[in-house]
Amino acid sequence: MVKIKNKLIIGGPCAVENKTQLYNTFQRIHNHVDVFRAGIWKGRTSPKNYSGFGTKALPWIRDIQKKYNIPVAIEVGTTKHVELALKYDVRKIWLGARTTVNPFAVQEIAESLRNTDIDIWIKNPIISDMGLWTGAIERFNRVGIKKIKTIYRGFYSEKNKTYRNEPRWDLLKLFKTHYAHIPIIFDPSHLSGDTKYIGNLVQNINREIVSGFMFEVHDNPSEALSDKNQQLDPEEFKMIINKLIEKSD
Ligand code: PEP
Ligand code: MN
Repeated sequence: MVKIKNKLIIGGPCAVENKTQLYNTFQRIHNHVDVFRAGIWKGRTSPKNYSGFGTKALPWIRDIQKKYNIPVAIEVGTTKHVELALKYDVRKIWLGARTTVNPFAVQEIAESLRNTDIDIWIKNPIISDMGLWTGAIERFNRVGIKKIKTIYRGFYSEKNKTYRNEPRWDLLKLFKTHYAHIPIIFDPSHLSGDTKYIGNLVQNINREIVSGFMFEVHDNPSEALSDKNQQLDPEEFKMIINKLIEKSD
């Protein structure tokens, strides 16, 4: 069921932390999302950081999909992840910004999905190299994947900045000009790195350019094991969605 006309709404925790956190978060937002997100393998910059609940969370994800008939999307970074995702009926997967920069990884993942009817969402690469971004899309095109979307989450920058990642709206527009047929999902959580900016970013984004939104939502953000500052509380999330509904045609 589409919650907002012409816009795909994706929401859920940065990472699955345990069964209760996963089910509680899902229960509190499932009426407001088209797709629930739940990272189980986290490609963290430091190995000291929480790296996800892993494969043991897949039966819960399958259970949620079956019981509620709402698709769940997860991130994949290796062909082993792809194999496991398919085994547990996960049909929407995304490539993280740190994977899109690596042509070897992208090619291997693309090959492992050859001619499947999977939905693949490719996050823009962590650095602002348009060639890596479009190259990754092309690799999935070439193996016969038809359902390709991209997720815009801004770019890493060393400059002093307001947001966690630099928006580079110019590159987003450029992408849209050349790849008008690829839907763009906007991820204000990873772009901003802080919930205080998310409402404004969503209100101000050019709605003609984006086909949907991906939000990080956690049932108890202050206790989150990853991306604590950018995960919305379910009530904050619903307020943002309600504002989007007011503005939709
Ligand atoms: C994520 O969506 O969980 C994530 C790690 O984001 P990104 O790849 O954009 O940093
Ligand atoms: Mn995250």
